[in-house]
Amino acid sequence: MTIDNLAAERRQDYDGASPFPEAEDHDLAGRTQVWVTAAIVIVPFAALGAAIFLAWGRGVTLTDLLLATALYVVTGLGVTVGYHRLLTHSSFTARPWLRVTLAIAGSMGFQGNVIDWVAVHRRHHAFTDRPGDPHSPYRYGTGLRGQLRGLAHAHLGWLFVKDSTPAERYAPDLLADPAMVKVARFFPALCVLSLALPFAAGWAITGTLFGGLTAFLWAGLIRAALLQHVTWSVNSLCHVIGNRPFKTRRHDRSTNLWPLALLSFGESWHNGHHSEPACARHGVDRHQIDPSAAMIGLFERFGWASNVHWPDRQRVQRRRAGRSPERASAAD
Ligand SMILES: [Zn+2]
Ligand SMILES: [Zn+2]
Repeated sequence: MTIDNLAAERRQDYDGASPFPEAEDHDLAGRTQVWVTAAIVIVPFAALGAAIFLAWGRGVTLTDLLLATALYVVTGLGVTVGYHRLLTHSSFTARPWLRVTLAIAGSMGFQGNVIDWVAVHRRHHAFTDRPGDPHSPYRYGTGLRGQLRGLAHAHLGWLFVKDSTPAERYAPDLLADPAMVKVARFFPALCVLSLALPFAAGWAITGTLFGGLTAFLWAGLIRAALLQHVTWSVNSLCHVIGNRPFKTRRHDRSTNLWPLALLSFGESWHNGHHSEPACARHGVDRHQIDPSAAMIGLFERFGWASNVHWPDRQRVQRRRAGRSPERASAAD
C-alpha cells in the first residue's frame, strides 16, 4: 500500500496534535540517494568554510558577489516561477520555450528534478500538516520536543527518509510532456552546469584560475546552499512561525513570514499561497513584496505568459480569517 493510500485511510483519525501514524517509520532512502543528499547538504557548508578562509583579509570580490546574485536570481525564479507557480499549480500558461527555460533554471537550483519536485509539492498540498504530508513540521506532534524534531524533519530530514511520491499519481501531466521528461533526465548535467558556469565566468573575467575557484565557491556552492535553505525554510518555518491572515483547509498551519519574502522571491507569503494555491501572486496584500509575481507580470506584458490567475479582491476578502482587512494587512 502506498503512503498516500495509507494516509488517506488514517487521516480521518488525525486530531491535529498527535504524532502522525508514520512518524517513526525511519527507513532510510536508498544508499545512493542518502549519499547524494548528504553531499548536497554538507559540501556547500564545507565550501563556505573554504570561501571564508580564502577571503580572509581581502574580502569577497565584486565579481563573485555579482555572479552569485545573478545565479541566485535566475535559479531562484526557476524554482518559484517555474517549478512552483507554473508547473505545480498552473498559475499561468507559458510559451513552450519559456516553460522549458524555467524548468531548466529551476533544475539548476539543486532541489531535485522537475517531475519529482512537482510530485512532492502537490502531495504536500494534498495532505498539508496531516498524515501523508512529505515534510510537515507536525509529524512528531505539537509538544516542544516533537515540534523541534518536526522542524528539523520539515527542513531537510525528510530528504533522507524513504517515502517515495509516485509521479504517475501526482504529476501525470509532466510525465506526458516529452520536454519535461527530457529536462528531468538532464537534471544531474544541469547541476554540473550550475557549478561550471560560475567557475568559467570567474576564470574568464579575472583571467586567473584562483578567480574561477572563488567564483565557483561563492556563486556556485554557497549560492546553491542559500537557495536550498531558503526553500526548505518555507517548508519548515512557514508552517510554524508567522501570521495566518487567511483561512486554509483543516489542519493546514501555513504562515506568512515577512523576513523571508525577498530572499524567497515572495514564497514566504505561504499562508496566502495555501489559501489559494493556483493564484499567481502569493503576497496578496499591500506591501507584501512578491518578486515572482512581478516576474510573471513582466512575462504577461511581453506576451510570453497568458491565463494568469491574478488575485480577485473579493475572493481575497472572503478568505480572510475573521479579521478586518486593515488589521490583517497591518499585521503582516
Ligand atoms: Zn506549505
Ligand atoms: Zn504550492
